[in-house]
Amino acid sequence: MSKNVLVTGGTRGIGEAISREFAKNGYDVIINYVRSVEKAEELKEELEAEYGIRVYPIQADVSDEIQLENMVDEIMEEFGKIDVLVNNAGIVIDKEFDERTVQDWKDTLNVNLIAPFVLTKLVGEEMVKQGSGSIVNISSTNGINTYYPTSVDYDASKSGLISLTYDSAIQYAPNVRVNCVAPGWVNTEMNDELPDDFVESETEHILVKRFGEPEEIAKAVYFLASDNASFINGTVLKVDGGWY
Ligand code: NAD
Repeated sequence: MSKNVLVTGGTRGIGEAISREFAKNGYDVIINYVRSVEKAEELKEELEAEYGIRVYPIQADVSDEIQLENMVDEIMEEFGKIDVLVNNAGIVIDKEFDERTVQDWKDTLNVNLIAPFVLTKLVGEEMVKQGSGSIVNISSTNGINTYYPTSVDYDASKSGLISLTYDSAIQYAPNVRVNCVAPGWVNTEMNDELPDDFVESETEHILVKRFGEPEEIAKAVYFLASDNASFINGTVLKVDGGWY
């Protein structure tokens, strides 16, 4: 029986690259999206034709617990199992530190941290029953060692996601592995609005002297989820080109 993966926010940027990487490796791909139904259908058509796998687009706003419960119920009815969960969906609100509101914090934490917790719980319990499974969380180097006052709540959410990784690795051991990828700067729509001089000065700190591409993150995610990483559990892999 073929394996499957659920990718949250799987229609664009890093999420799209992750969907493509698993499809390429023969996985059935369950692509969660919130608004981009056309993009999800396009990807389904393309990936099914190219790789002969099944793509199952599913709409859910990950910040809504009920929608997450319904999504997991629907997937379990359709597939009977979830082999890999990638908690990828994320938002960033760029604002000065002193302009940031409690609502900004709540919005950011809901998508970036609480949603991964809810999904980890829902899917992790199924994986324990299955006796196998792998979860990969997409954090950020902002959650480890690069901090920006203009994204204080984002940075906190990404640090929190690393804690969630450690704690859920313990909770669901021994048969379910939970790991984390912490990307540095990556060329996606999330960074479209960054001013040129900021991009230039950040690039100075990156040892390979460029931003990453979504595919470079997707390969690390696939590695951690795959059996090639069977002895890697509760770890955080920075994929940032080296930061100086
Ligand atoms: P992106 O903005 O292109 O993609 C984010 C995805 O999350 C989109 O598909 C969006 O629809 C989805 N999403 C947002 N809110 C959602 C919700 N409520 N319900 C369902 N889906 C929702 O950004 P990206 O760069 O591809 O980011 C993907 C992940 O990688 C995020 O968690 C981000 O924090 C992380 N990350 C990105 C970078 C970077 O430089 N681009 C660096 C480090 C970490």
